[in-house]
Amino acid sequence: MKYITEFRNKDDVQKLAKAIGTYNGRPVQYMEVCGGHTMSIQRFGIPSMLPESIRLISGPGCPVCVTSTGFIDQAIALSRQTDTIIATYGDLIRVPGSNSSLENERGKGADIRIVLSSLAAIQMAIDNQDKKVIFLGIGFETTAPATAVAIQEAHRQSLENFYVLSAHKIMPPAMDSLLSGDINLDGFIAPGHVSAITGSKIYEPLVEKYQTPVVISGFEPLDILYSVWMLINQTQNNTPGVEIQYKRVVNEGGNTKALELMDEIFEPEDDWWRGLGVLPNSGLGIRTQYRAHDAKQWLPKNMELPKEPVGCICGDILKGLRSPSECRLFGKACHPGNPVGACMVSNEGACQAYYLYGNG
Ligand code: SF4
Repeated sequence: MKYITEFRNKDDVQKLAKAIGTYNGRPVQYMEVCGGHTMSIQRFGIPSMLPESIRLISGPGCPVCVTSTGFIDQAIALSRQTDTIIATYGDLIRVPGSNSSLENERGKGADIRIVLSSLAAIQMAIDNQDKKVIFLGIGFETTAPATAVAIQEAHRQSLENFYVLSAHKIMPPAMDSLLSGDINLDGFIAPGHVSAITGSKIYEPLVEKYQTPVVISGFEPLDILYSVWMLINQTQNNTPGVEIQYKRVVNEGGNTKALELMDEIFEPEDDWWRGLGVLPNSGLGIRTQYRAHDAKQWLPKNMELPKEPVGCICGDILKGLRSPSECRLFGKACHPGNPVGACMVSNEGACQAYYLYGNG
């Protein structure tokens, strides 16, 4: 409790906001590329504490949001196969596919179970050896190590009925794509949890290439305000670099053990991101040595091309080009009780954050 209070101290927040308020440089926009940051920024009303010249925009940091409709269609196709159990993290079951969702399929009798960890899916495979258990691996460097552990464990135990459908992604190619795209970005509030695994060094090539400031931030109000302050200083002094605000969790080198494990199990592959399209080497495919556990072998040969929900601008929101309130469905046809698009499903999605905290 003391920990939370410390980073939400009202007097400190006000002091920092006041200091940021003295900024009188050119208008800047900084992007947070983590859904957790988007949620905190909206929840704590951070935009209202900043001068008009400093704008925060959300990016492609919500794992559920960037997962492609095609992946959901694949998961649905697998769930319709006999003797198959789909094991998934909770948010994913409500994400719309082209014509259905995992939640709908479950209502129609498919065996789709929510798990809290990849190892729970392993236990499911042990307990149901007459069925295929397919774990849906989504998320960035934060969740990929846990999926890698599960694959390694299945391999070690020769569990022949455990598979992973991997949509894991890594963050730097998405940031690179944004910096080379249509939007003007003056800096990134870089993800805290991803960086705890990767370390801060992974952003250095981006800073060298684009001269764009990066600050790795924590999730409490003081963390975020302080990160904005650090970004402003880099902007004003024209000293772009990678800085760690979230030092209580992140270091330069990251979690070596987790990185080695990811490297052992996964290899880079091109992957499709909602909004950003196909980005080279941005996904994590399962290496040949572990292919026996790759659920891709069970996919139907001719899947139809995916269709995006009509009227949903989630892709543009993930690129920072538009805000949730610019979607004509926002808060009307689309709300957390009836999400039309992925950005309203997840508690890290920008549309849900803006809807819940009224900063659309
Ligand atoms: S409000 Fe709903 S329909 Fe509109 S962009 Fe967000 S998720 Fe898509």
